[in-house]
Amino acid sequence: MGGTFDPIHHGHLVAASEVAVLFGLDEVVFVPTGQPWQKGHREVSPAEDRYLMTVIATASNPRFTVSRVDIARGGPTYTIDTLTDLRRQRPDDELFFITGADALSQILSWRDSERFLELAHFIGVTRPGFDLGAAHLPEGAVSLVEVPALAISSSDCRERVSRGMPVWYLVPDGVVQYIEKRGLYRSRGGTRPTVR
Ligand code: ATP
Ligand code: MG
Repeated sequence: MGGTFDPIHHGHLVAASEVAVLFGLDEVVFVPTGQPWQKGHREVSPAEDRYLMTVIATASNPRFTVSRVDIARGGPTYTIDTLTDLRRQRPDDELFFITGADALSQILSWRDSERFLELAHFIGVTRPGFDLGAAHLPEGAVSLVEVPALAISSSDCRERVSRGMPVWYLVPDGVVQYIEKRGLYRSRGGTRPTVR
């Protein structure tokens, strides 16, 4: 399962768990993206922080693991590289690439999408409010899974932290504590004083 995971939240974890059950997967490998210069208009947290939050969030599930392939490669992540690296590490495994249906429609709109489809089966997870009609996914090649409604996004979590609002229960407890410990997502220039 690929993502920026800035931070990882319960939407990601429910999606992974749902897909694992529906497709009978032995393992879900979470793959945090390498360090992009920016995502949209914002800076992305350091890869090492996103990696550690992903490890913390998945540690209690014996079927969830985390891969450093995209982080180790450095620079922005291209899905073709992710899949090629994972294939090399696991030559005998059947690979499924899980990500949001929004991201998937972008990935598969690129040239070479046939090559992608040879490397893995693609599974797009949808989130409440996502309009599937707008996704333009190649028919038959991709499975879509509706995840039990969890309207959580990383953007919303970051925004809450920057306003001094809690993210308890939106992200795993250890991730709440990691965000606090590392001072992630606090708005620059500091808005509201921290009350202790
Ligand atoms: P951001 O708000 O920064 O875009 P995000 O919450 O979408 O972050 P990503 O790390 O970009 O998190 O997520 C990886 C993939 O997981 C995305 O393609 C996204 O669509 C999907 N995803 C995120 N949240 C949910 C959710 N609550 N339910 C189902 N899928 C989700
Ligand atoms: Mg997103």
